[in-house]
Amino acid sequence: MGEFDLIARYFKRPTRQAALGIGDDCALLQPTPGCQLAVSCDMLVQGRHFFADVDPRTLGHKALAVNLSDLAACGAKPLAFTLALALPEVNEAWLEAFSQGLFALADRHGCELIGGDTTAGPLNICITVFGEVPVPGGRSQALLRSGAKAGDDLYVSGTVGDARLALDVRLGKLCLPAEAPAMMAASAPSNTAAATSAPISELSQVLDFAHARLETPTPRVALGLALRGVATSAIDVSDGLLGDLGHILERSRVGASVDADEAIKSIASYAYFKRSKGQYFINLSSEQWRTLALAGGDDYELLFTAPPAQRDAVQAAALTSQTPVRRIGQIDTEPGLRVVDAQGHLLPNRYKSFDHFA
Ligand code: ADP
Ligand code: MG
Repeated sequence: MGEFDLIARYFKRPTRQAALGIGDDCALLQPTPGCQLAVSCDMLVQGRHFFADVDPRTLGHKALAVNLSDLAACGAKPLAFTLALALPEVNEAWLEAFSQGLFALADRHGCELIGGDTTAGPLNICITVFGEVPVPGGRSQALLRSGAKAGDDLYVSGTVGDARLALDVRLGKLCLPAEAPAMMAASAPSNTAAATSAPISELSQVLDFAHARLETPTPRVALGLALRGVATSAIDVSDGLLGDLGHILERSRVGASVDADEAIKSIASYAYFKRSKGQYFINLSSEQWRTLALAGGDDYELLFTAPPAQRDAVQAAALTSQTPVRRIGQIDTEPGLRVVDAQGHLLPNRYKSFDHFA
């Protein structure tokens, strides 16, 4: 199969919203009048971002999910995306599964594939997404990193730390008991309700959940849209919560205090692994749990700030978007980042986020 047959077979579909889709030198997009375009690009490289044996369907999902997550963090509504693909060979089963995973997520968000590039080479996937944000009266409603104010509450959505838990288990950095007795579904944190419909009752299911968080993250697009006009700043958590928070602090010229023990409650697996009948299913120290939550990465949750006067509005946004949110700290006038425990004692900040070149 040649390059153009490959594109036609796996990636070209009837155009829906775009003025012009795949097949010409450029695609043409017609943004809604009164809106500005939000554009973001993320690359996934084998060996860096995914294992060689990853299921191509989940890879298709994740390649788009990490991009939609950037639109979510900006409060932008997804419109379209382009796909630049380097493939070592034409593997039809792989392409079939990859494109299915990709389009399943794209269709859920009404985000259309409008073009791209296809070359031979080491497996590499680069997606650029286009979204739109209203600009009523010349004022953009985009959520930026630069809007946090001293006194704002700090929130994180969904679950953080689970993807890293799955990664560490996979890399053999964390050892788990071979078998664990069934755990009570009643102890499930309300957090997981949006992510899984079935109650998690066994260790293997907890691990499956953590693994799903790693391989098929949920971009929080609906929450990002609901937070327009409510949140003062936002970012998506990809490299690790504290590292990404650092970007908000820098751009907003403020400091923050984060309650590490509140943050670990956002790890869905935490409640299950913690203990049952006085026994730990997985013997992690509080320091290890804190590291998962604060430096885990690959979560694709939204980290955002909002004034205390907006607490009801934040809860309403969580409700309409069916996305749990948790308040984990506050923005301070004093520069720098303070990590505290449940008692408010200052903890040494050893939580290093991911950096490709560090
Ligand atoms: P050009 O020579 O202008 O770069 P190509 O010949 O590479 O264009 O691609 C032909 C058409 O197919 C273009 O519209 C391009 O956007 C689209 N295309 C190429 N690769 C992909 C892909 N992986 N997914 C979607 N569209 C693609
Ligand atoms: Mg080309």
